[in-house]
Amino acid sequence: MAETLNILESARLEIKKACNLLKLNPACYDILKDPLRVMETSLPVKMDDGSTKVFKAYRSAHNWALGPCKGGVRFHENVSLDEVKALSMWMSLKAGLLNIPYGGGKGGICTDPSELSDREIENLSRAYIRSIYKYLGERIDIPAPDMNTNGKVMSYFLDEYEKLNGEKQDIGTFTGKPLVLGGSLGRNEATGFGVVVATKFACQKLDINLADAKIGIQGFGNVGSFSLKYLLDNGAKIQYLCIHDRKSPSGLSGLYSKEGFSYEQLSAYYQDHKTLVDFPNAVKISDTKFWSEKFDILIPAAIENSITSEIAKKIQVKLIVEGANGPITPEADEILKDNNVVIIPDILANSGGVLVSYYEWVQNQYGYYWDIKEVQEKQEKDMQTALKRVFETADKYQVSIREAAYITAIKRIDEAMQLRGWY
Ligand code: GLU
Repeated sequence: MAETLNILESARLEIKKACNLLKLNPACYDILKDPLRVMETSLPVKMDDGSTKVFKAYRSAHNWALGPCKGGVRFHENVSLDEVKALSMWMSLKAGLLNIPYGGGKGGICTDPSELSDREIENLSRAYIRSIYKYLGERIDIPAPDMNTNGKVMSYFLDEYEKLNGEKQDIGTFTGKPLVLGGSLGRNEATGFGVVVATKFACQKLDINLADAKIGIQGFGNVGSFSLKYLLDNGAKIQYLCIHDRKSPSGLSGLYSKEGFSYEQLSAYYQDHKTLVDFPNAVKISDTKFWSEKFDILIPAAIENSITSEIAKKIQVKLIVEGANGPITPEADEILKDNNVVIIPDILANSGGVLVSYYEWVQNQYGYYWDIKEVQEKQEKDMQTALKRVFETADKYQVSIREAAYITAIKRIDEAMQLRGWY
């Protein structure tokens, strides 16, 4: 069977499955299979050498039955319209699962930001907002960071947006902002923190003791690095990492540390070198060896389609917690299911980012800010509620955790669309 590498197709497959199982009005799937609004723009940007380069950019507003659209903006050379559409669908589902008042949105600019100067990144960020600002707003569509974007990019977005809107201070139009611009404590680390909440929950269900578990993490970006940090804080030891390596044919290689990695050492090295390829306190292993290890817990926290059916056949783990969005192809998912691997799906496992974005938005409306303890206690509690609900749904319908997560989320979106009289 040919591998489904188009994540829009993968997302639609799962949505369709859930709609059929729930015997929903066919209009529900017809609405959810595409975003309600999509923008595709071309951004001419003045580069440092005086030339002008044109960048392709997108913003997809998938559904607003439950509230304003919400979701990140990524800068990546492979960004495409279909990818952004699929990612925005997954955002609708995350909000549906968490019972937060949002629909899904997602945006992206096709670029490799490591090749841009700070000034070029600023010019590009401002150009993006100029092209779509009429369709953004704290009650319309609320962007946030995603792959290769951060608080600095959100600051340019916010500044440009407010300029275009007569200097009106609508800081809740963006989340993932730096603290001085109305950001929330705990937002930067929220996705990784949430991955660990999900991991601990699943470990309890599967009787895995985190302290003796053999764990592998793929990726050391925002999600991978904070997942590693909070796993260590919870008494785990991490000996295996799979990292981005431009020189390897697969683009990946593995790192092994007998005594276990230190978060501080890895992040200090990464900050200086922008890569972990020659990280000195580890032995380099092949990515094939990484995928074949008998882990108790595997956390893919890099990019979509990392686990294809070829890789899935090598995998011998008990639990996979999806830190990235869409890291497993549908065919690989089937293989893993046949091999009894329990998978906590992306829309549940990595939903901590949008959850704390919601807290940031609430704090912006209040003008009153919480301490980190309050943020993380709320996050843990809200994610546990969602996890419990999904596990109960899996039992009730006798389906996988992924299928149960889709069912749980779609039920709520379907109810909102019906009440609004959309069908
Ligand atoms: N980019 C994150 C995600 O994929 C967070 C989005 C947000 O905070 O709105 O879930």
